[in-house]
Amino acid sequence: MEHKLWIDGKWQDSKGGKMMAIENPATGKNFAEVVDASKEDVDRAVQAAKTAFYDGRWSKKSPGERSKLIWKLADVIEANIEAIAKLESENTGKPYEFVSLGGDVPFAVDNLRFFASAARDTHGSHAGEFMPGYTSMYRREPVGVVGQVAPWNYPFMMAAWKIGPALAAGCTIVLKPAPGTPLTTLMLADFIKEAGIPDGVVNIVTGGNDTGQAIVEHPDVRMVSLTGSTGTGKKIMKTAADTLKRVHLELGGKAPFIVFDDSDPELVASKASMAAFMNTGQDCTAATRLYVEKSKLKVMQEAVVEAMKNVKVGLPFEDGVQMGPLISGVQKERVAGFVERAKASGAKILTGGGTPKGLDNGYFFEPTVITNVQQDSEIVQNEVFGPVITVQEFSDEADALSKGNDVLYGLAASIFTRDIGRAMRLSSELEFGTVWVNDHLPLTSETPHGGFKQSGFGKDLSAEAIGDYQITKHVMIAQS
Ligand code: NAD
Repeated sequence: MEHKLWIDGKWQDSKGGKMMAIENPATGKNFAEVVDASKEDVDRAVQAAKTAFYDGRWSKKSPGERSKLIWKLADVIEANIEAIAKLESENTGKPYEFVSLGGDVPFAVDNLRFFASAARDTHGSHAGEFMPGYTSMYRREPVGVVGQVAPWNYPFMMAAWKIGPALAAGCTIVLKPAPGTPLTTLMLADFIKEAGIPDGVVNIVTGGNDTGQAIVEHPDVRMVSLTGSTGTGKKIMKTAADTLKRVHLELGGKAPFIVFDDSDPELVASKASMAAFMNTGQDCTAATRLYVEKSKLKVMQEAVVEAMKNVKVGLPFEDGVQMGPLISGVQKERVAGFVERAKASGAKILTGGGTPKGLDNGYFFEPTVITNVQQDSEIVQNEVFGPVITVQEFSDEADALSKGNDVLYGLAASIFTRDIGRAMRLSSELEFGTVWVNDHLPLTSETPHGGFKQSGFGKDLSAEAIGDYQITKHVMIAQS
């Protein structure tokens, strides 16, 4: 399969770009080629988005009209759900039933339906007399052309999370999927056309980091929304400073999973293992640091190890498979490197740590539990982005809080306890954008998702995300 660029509602050839091979991480074999878009390609996409923005074909539609077309897009995606999920699994190695068809693509449909509805809820406007003889009103207007840069861990879902609020707000878009996982995002192009969203409103350019950089540098792009690593977020923020664009950054995470002694070991084991191995641990909210109250350390640790041993790892289209490969050879080396360095500095691997038996062809890695780690060690402090969880003990609530907060990241955290007062105290003190009590991972389209600290700022999901793509204008009218 060979693909072009989606610019102004048409498939267009690249000018000056090269081709990039796309690999199936479950086999290690290439199966498609896409364009590595040039600066000139990015400029054409931005110009198409700019024309579409200023002629009002999208921004001047009524919220009701925009809503109808976003809803139609969700319907078209739903009608093609199996084809999208199949391609997503081929491109990422995600288990087809368990993740692509069972989670990612239906959630993307739900997100778009939420944003279709929220597009019509234009609350937040004020009007009144704040100076004698004058009437003021606030208008919430779309920011303009937005550049949206996506990661590889949830390619289709991230594309939906990005375009939904931007479209609802009335913006036009240049969207760039991650270099290795562009295929389902390219599929989206035809669905956008079929849904009747006007040409030029969503443009899709594939490419590597330089293509992303060209989007961020472009003077006609008013805002950049990135989901990616904290390092990339820092670079983008620096680049965006030159043209003073708004940045919206959904970055890395290192979620603590805090277990008090009144918790049920069975619940803890099933939730902690699921939150550690789901999507092969390549999830910014993944449970990565298990902290257990000292008196229950042994029983909780044993239960989690047992649950991680029972995860069914395998090929994406095999029945009952819960966990597929890591995304690439580079990612496998990265994850293995973290585990090896932890071992070398005295950590103990309780289960996993290597390639699962019989799965040498792709980039598979065993569900892994590690203990004997120090709070300031690399494996506890840095994002591994693999199916790896560390276990440590804590002595009391203050110790749990201090260890939980003691990382640069602040995306998600969880507390397991039956004591509602303790759950409330900790959820107000934990510096994370999402805090779960007695669960870890679920998100809904209605509720905001985004970071504290070096996990970034700006929200995905929820009506708050639409607000991020809008700008307030004050209109002041002299009454005489
Ligand atoms: P990455 O930062 O390597 O790449 C993300 C995207 O940014 C890619 O499309 C890439 O081409 C682009 N990019 C890289 N350098 C750029 C530059 N200088 N200018 C413009 N664009 C550039 O991230 P990844 O490895 O694809 O994804 C994994 C990361 O994403 C993890 O850190 C994970 O935690 C994070 N993530 C965060 C969330 C969240 O909601 N906070 C969700 C999913 C993933």
